[in-house]
Amino acid sequence: MATGKINVQTENIFPIIKQFLYSDQEIFLRELVSNAVDATQKLRTLSNLGEVKGDIGETQMEVKVDEKKKTLTFSDRGIGMTEEEVEKYINQIAFSGAEEFVEKYKDKASVIGHFGLGFYSSFMVADKVEIFTKSYKEGAKAVKWECDGSPNFTLKEDGTRKERGTDIVLHISKDSKEYLSESKIRELLDKYCKFMAVPIKFGTKEVNDPDFKPKTKKGKDGKETTEPHKKITVDNIINNPSPAWTKAPADLKEEDYKSFYRELYPMNFQEPLFNIHLNVDYPFNLTGILYFPKLKNNLEVQKDKIQLYSNQVFVTDSVEGIVPDFLTLLHGVIDSPDIPLNVSRSYLQADSNVKKISNYISKKVADKLEELFKKDRKAFEEKWDDIKIFIEYGILSDEKFADKAKKFTLYKNTDGKYFTLDEYKKEIEKTQTDKDKKIVCLYTSNPEDQYSYIDAAKTKGYQVLVMDTPLTAHLVGKLEQMDDKLTFTRVDGDTIDNLIKKDEEIPSKLSEEDEKILKPVIEEVLPKDKFTVNFVSMSETEAPMTVTQAEFMRRMKDMSALGGGGGMMGMGNLPEMFNLAVNSNHPLISKILSEKDASKKKDMAKQATDLALLSQNLLKGEELSKFIKRSVELI
Ligand code: ADP
Repeated sequence: MATGKINVQTENIFPIIKQFLYSDQEIFLRELVSNAVDATQKLRTLSNLGEVKGDIGETQMEVKVDEKKKTLTFSDRGIGMTEEEVEKYINQIAFSGAEEFVEKYKDKASVIGHFGLGFYSSFMVADKVEIFTKSYKEGAKAVKWECDGSPNFTLKEDGTRKERGTDIVLHISKDSKEYLSESKIRELLDKYCKFMAVPIKFGTKEVNDPDFKPKTKKGKDGKETTEPHKKITVDNIINNPSPAWTKAPADLKEEDYKSFYRELYPMNFQEPLFNIHLNVDYPFNLTGILYFPKLKNNLEVQKDKIQLYSNQVFVTDSVEGIVPDFLTLLHGVIDSPDIPLNVSRSYLQADSNVKKISNYISKKVADKLEELFKKDRKAFEEKWDDIKIFIEYGILSDEKFADKAKKFTLYKNTDGKYFTLDEYKKEIEKTQTDKDKKIVCLYTSNPEDQYSYIDAAKTKGYQVLVMDTPLTAHLVGKLEQMDDKLTFTRVDGDTIDNLIKKDEEIPSKLSEEDEKILKPVIEEVLPKDKFTVNFVSMSETEAPMTVTQAEFMRRMKDMSALGGGGGMMGMGNLPEMFNLAVNSNHPLISKILSEKDASKKKDMAKQATDLALLSQNLLKGEELSKFIKRSVELI
């Protein structure tokens, strides 16, 4: 028997470990289970190499709670340890690792996953830890190691462990009683160990006996009854040791991807739109499956996050920095042992390997989208409205993605027809090129609200795109920047002739004198300080008056409403300003002008401006009800 003092500089390492990131205490479970999994996989490897003779038998591990004894036990059938190995790996290596870790990170909170604390993290929840272990090596004697949380330990021969493998017994401390609750442990196993590579048993469960064929009998009354199914008790395996992402894409069918999605997010009843299987081994190792989810509302987006694994061990579900920003809203799994996990987030974002990973994911997603677009455009179009927000975000935040996305980004017109930008440019080039040779793309953020403007544009033979995401203002700016032949303007940004200025001019029926008379009459009936009145010489068939809001102004406001927008902050507080364009050639305007009775003149002006406000959804409350009354009287 050996007793000794663990050789550490920091005498008080245990109190530090105990307090260390209290909120993340629960990771001790992941550390102990993954040690057991490692030990089992090492054994399998040695067996494959022929270094372990004979059949290695059952290799599943087990987690057991004993509420009476207040212990939590992790048992594996892995390689085990000899006395020398316990001395080396537990007393020296593991300990120095833990000490170094605590030294390094005691002041830093944001350590991803907190890898590296290892075996000693068990002291965060236990007063005393025992190890019973027997090495796979021939003739190895079983040993017991014990430590009560001070730097003193005992290590002696002890026959408790009869067969190859290791039991780690945690005597749970008073303030960590929650880890003696079966439901708590089940929850943690589900969170951290769901896809670990070795089957993990946690208790037993009752299932229908597959060999039992229930008999059906006919009773006296002629009714058939089936006898109850025979139950048997089996091990309750809580994990799936070979999840879909570890398999080759060629071995998986569409249904396998879908069922893996359900396995990942059992509480989400939506089917994903499509998936992207990631699989690289050079220059870094990365596997995973990403899913484009079907979004119902923004709240849902946050719920099911991408999970990051390291060799099937759950690390975290906050993947910022590893996955490009615009893809953090996707669902799925990424597994990479090459992501440094015991570093702070800021370090991680600066790491060149991590940058490569992020670029790879972005490229892979773009390739997949292009492939889907090429393979079945119709199906792609059907999904477009659900995925466009991701793609717009990607175009705005990632130059390389923006470039690739040109091939598959779609634009929908008000008739529900989809175009790529190149196709659309060809489509409208003839009709919508203005006198400065720019192709003007008209868009609407809401086809219903802006109906009259769309109608005016269509009457002219123009097309209007539906661009209705919160990113639209940013996106159209970006598209104009990428192509200087192109300009975007919302369909209610001005009168249609001003939106797409052509060379031909329509002569005005009003003289300057007439305009001087009319202007104050119209101004008087409009809300004060909100409107600028101007006269536009349009065709007789256009509306008599049109309310518009300048494109520039509106874009600024939209961008600042979204937050950020490059120094646009504060724009959101600007007062709303509108233009009222009066069509000089409309008969109604001539009628108002020629009306002699001042009060009648005012009424007519009011009715005409109210109509214009109504079509921009600006007539509300009292003004609206007055308008209705007045209209009824007129009828
Ligand atoms: P890490 O797992 O990161 O190496 P740990 O502190 O968790 O660090 O463990 C230290 C070492 O102790 C391991 O590398 C391994 O050699 C040994 N060890 C821990 N748990 C087991 C186990 N269940 N079976 C066999 N060896 C183990």
